[in-house]
Amino acid sequence: MRIDVITCLPELFKGPFDQSILHRAQDKGIVELKVHDLRPYATNKHKTVDDYAYGGGAGMVLQIEPIDRCISDLKKDNDYDEVIYTSPDGVQFDQSIANQLSLLNNIIIICGHYKGVDERVREHLVTKEISIGDYVLSGGELAAAVISDAIIRLIPGVLNDESSALSDSFQDNLIAPPVYTRPAEYNGWKVPDVLLSGHEANIEQWRHEQSIERTKSRRPNLLDGTTE
Ligand code: SAH
Repeated sequence: MRIDVITCLPELFKGPFDQSILHRAQDKGIVELKVHDLRPYATNKHKTVDDYAYGGGAGMVLQIEPIDRCISDLKKDNDYDEVIYTSPDGVQFDQSIANQLSLLNNIIIICGHYKGVDERVREHLVTKEISIGDYVLSGGELAAAVISDAIIRLIPGVLNDESSALSDSFQDNLIAPPVYTRPAEYNGWKVPDVLLSGHEANIEQWRHEQSIERTKSRRPNLLDGTTE
């Protein structure tokens, strides 16, 4: 899979994309993560990519031209399944969207900034708009990192144990059961006996029951398939 991120702040991706699972996924050649700085695509001599909003008001708006030029450049070399814009009013990101996106070959993610992007980007260049929650961030970069992380860990070969992603919360509409590790007792706080029993079937059954209980108490909506 290849993810091309378009941003006016490429430095922001250095941490998230260069560590841990996302780093390993690129190292293994399973994923190509490319961050594109908008600035070289600017057309004015000051290399700015934003301008004042027509009609007035506070806040700058990212211009369509550099974004269009960057996308056109990318499309010369690749076919894209989706051109995603990170936006607080987009469809709310969840595990099922992550699952769907993880099956695609190439996607572009556009990060807005300041007041957002010129509306014509959304009307003519974007195929999907995704929000990571009902709150406003200062830019789409953290959202793009969240979306990329959630997608990439689902791609076969990225996690060392492939079944691990399947037992996480929200897969099969259930919350994950609790997990414990050594020591078996700390400060008098014990790990449940069943997990130390070595009895696989009992452990499986306990985990399933815990999942159901947790889902009922924390996210009952998942059991009836609604989002709230
Ligand atoms: N004026 C816009 C907010 C702009 S915030 C409004 O009121 O809707 C600047 C940029 O941050 C946006 O263009 C978007 O790319 C990103 N962003 C902010 N909140 C986000 C969220 N919840 N999910 C995804 N992207 C978000």
